[in-house]
Amino acid sequence: MGLLFGSFLNVVIARVPAGESIVHPRSRCPRCGHQLAWYENIPVLSWLALRARCSSCGLPISWRYPLIELLTALLFLACQRRFGWTPELVAALVLVLLLVPLSFIDLEHWILPHELTWPGIAAGVVLSWPMGWGRVQDAIIGAVVGFLVFWGMEWLGEKIFKKEALGAGDKDLLALIGAFLTWKPLLAVIFLSSLQGAVVGSLLLLVRGRAGPAPDPEPGPESTPAPPVGPEPVDTGGEEKKAEDEEEEEDDWEPGPTSIPFGPWLSLAALEVMLLGPLLREVLPVPLDMLFAGAR
Ligand SMILES: [Zn+2]
Repeated sequence: MGLLFGSFLNVVIARVPAGESIVHPRSRCPRCGHQLAWYENIPVLSWLALRARCSSCGLPISWRYPLIELLTALLFLACQRRFGWTPELVAALVLVLLLVPLSFIDLEHWILPHELTWPGIAAGVVLSWPMGWGRVQDAIIGAVVGFLVFWGMEWLGEKIFKKEALGAGDKDLLALIGAFLTWKPLLAVIFLSSLQGAVVGSLLLLVRGRAGPAPDPEPGPESTPAPPVGPEPVDTGGEEKKAEDEEEEEDDWEPGPTSIPFGPWLSLAALEVMLLGPLLREVLPVPLDMLFAGAR
């Protein structure tokens, strides 16, 4: 099931940012338009059998396709082991089906489409219904608190640092995570995502001079060097020059070398808290254990 849903998530990742339908038309090669036969569309196996190339034009098929299928399958398996055959399993699987595409879309396009986050917030509240009324209340509080925390940080960032510290979609994503996991582990989610994002971002910045993925090559016809400001500034040791112009137009925003997309880190932290919460509470020292007190 995870492999099949993962295959569908590949379609979501490719089409939702482009504003295309996810049910029509059938899957085709992006270069030559060759429509995939059913045997060319079997998760992982077809990619291996085709040797990662389109059977019609020979265009390489990205390793991202089998990766997402395998990743979704592994996460489905982990959810089943964690929750058993319970209503919580259904909610956990739906959360996986939202966080995987949101992460990969954010990595590629630096956006978290509200076509996914807004219905996701509603799904989180609705799916907590079988777990009792108390859980529904906690889910609603979680969505509101998640949104308000990042809204507050954004407001502060604009007032004090005069720059955009968080992408607009991060508010919706934290609200979504709050709706699924309730408000209780939100602090742990923010802590884990910031820590891991900062560590990995700094390492990548050292190794290849860029903390996040390279910006989308499509929109800018002539790529001017992006100013070194953006969401999640990571300390670089003062080598970079400061951006001269403070005024940044919303639409022309380009991720600088110190920018990281925050969505994948929030998603990773949410999955860690959901799947490993009890384990983390046992392993971590007492003060950190308090962070995870809300993790079921
Ligand atoms: Zn082709």
